[in-house]
Amino acid sequence: MNTDYEHFYINGRWVKPLSNATFDVINPATAEVAVRIPLANTADAESAISAARAAFPTWSQTPARERRDYLMAIAEEMDNRAADFAAALSLTMGCPRKVVPWLQVSGNSAAFRSFAERALQMEAVEQRNGFKVLKEPVGVCTLINPWNYPLSQLTGKLAPALAAGCTVVCKPAEQTPLQDLIMAEIIHKVGLPAGVFNLLLGEGASLGPTLCSHPEVDMVSFTGSTRAGVMVSQYAAPTVKRVTLELGGKSPYIVTEDADQRAAVKDCVNKVMINSGQSCNAPTRLFVARSRYEEALDIARNACAAWPVGAPTDPKTKVGPMSSERQRQTVLDYIRTGVAEGARLLTGGLEMPAGVEHGAYVAPTLFADVRNDMSIAQEEIFGPVLCIIAYDDLDQAIAMANHCRYGLSSNVFAATEDAALAIAKQIKAGQCFIQGGSFNGEAPFGGYKQSGNGREWGDEGLHEYCEIKAVIS
Ligand code: NAD
Repeated sequence: MNTDYEHFYINGRWVKPLSNATFDVINPATAEVAVRIPLANTADAESAISAARAAFPTWSQTPARERRDYLMAIAEEMDNRAADFAAALSLTMGCPRKVVPWLQVSGNSAAFRSFAERALQMEAVEQRNGFKVLKEPVGVCTLINPWNYPLSQLTGKLAPALAAGCTVVCKPAEQTPLQDLIMAEIIHKVGLPAGVFNLLLGEGASLGPTLCSHPEVDMVSFTGSTRAGVMVSQYAAPTVKRVTLELGGKSPYIVTEDADQRAAVKDCVNKVMINSGQSCNAPTRLFVARSRYEEALDIARNACAAWPVGAPTDPKTKVGPMSSERQRQTVLDYIRTGVAEGARLLTGGLEMPAGVEHGAYVAPTLFADVRNDMSIAQEEIFGPVLCIIAYDDLDQAIAMANHCRYGLSSNVFAATEDAALAIAKQIKAGQCFIQGGSFNGEAPFGGYKQSGNGREWGDEGLHEYCEIKAVIS
């Protein structure tokens, strides 16, 4: 890996930061410093925004076929750098080496290719009754991302923004900067025009006000906590920017009484434990029929045992450390809260998992006898913790599933697909996986309620970066 840790990428060049402030990125498996990065200040942010603004008139008018070719070239170079992406993500967020290539890396070049083809949609003119409808790029976009799927989150914003003809300023989470630096190298190599892609490293709290309120920024696409998403919206409101928000979740998994409970409960546990429990769409509230409750607990306990914890470098490891010690403490605090609230710890808990001594590890944890109004059932824990809740009838299960401030994702497993679909229609969430369905990068992704506004991926993901113009004759 030949990543430049000392510069930002602005206006087609690697530039020196304007302040001396630095941040130590910690390897969460060892607690050692992995890399030291510079932190941008307001002047760096203004410079990146003005580069993006200057590049917009030309990039937005570039023929869509040319933009498609650039995205295809980026995708090819992403494939060439796949091992570098995997090593970077394992180092900074602790994703196990065996898991990281397929979970965090491999789908992203395909997504770039798919958005490359969507660039052509920008030139399509829709003729309606007496008028035409055109799509145009929104303008200069700030793209802010968190640390849990850092390359996918970058791809889900950058690929549609470039395809639409927008120019961008990217800011990854301070804990996971490396995949964005590799992307800047890729973009430099393929020769994207100067100023179309700009990269800053820095802290959200200090850069957020400039990146999200600057009059030359037209749109902010933010993924992260609901807390920060609210602040981003407030910064952007006075200049009425478009804001898309992908925020937190506390997604339900409903298993009907007559469903294949073994398949369903295993699927739920697997979806919670993947990425060491740090997925925004994890189904962390499992609703099972009271008549089959003890059976469900047994299945969940066994499924949990198939998630060995260990160092990211160990090929047997499926659950690595939390992405930081701070995140580990947050998760442990929730486990303490769960016990205090009266939930029953089935497995896992506060002890360091067997086989590891140091590092930000948390054992896969199951809570039984959870009530849906407990804070462990209502608040996003963002760790390998599953709450199992009994229901008496399906209406009660659906009501509990919907009783939550979040609405990002959901899952239903019923006896038939039709029965699952009928329940899916009653759940207030942007996605619903039925009968064990899994992530599809072409499907629109986003939340209801406090899980956010807008959609990423697929055609809807492109449309977020478009203005719609009606031309009436
Ligand atoms: P976070 O909100 O603290 O940080 C996310 C990003 O926002 C980082 O780049 C951070 O520097 C930046 N940021 C922080 N404060 C900011 C501010 N005031 N203004 C502008 N930017 C600011 O979140 P986190 O703890 O790093 O990430 C975990 C959260 O992200 C969880 O709640 C999770 O559910 C959510 N998430 C949501 C999705 C989704 O698609 N819905 C995907 C992944 C993660």
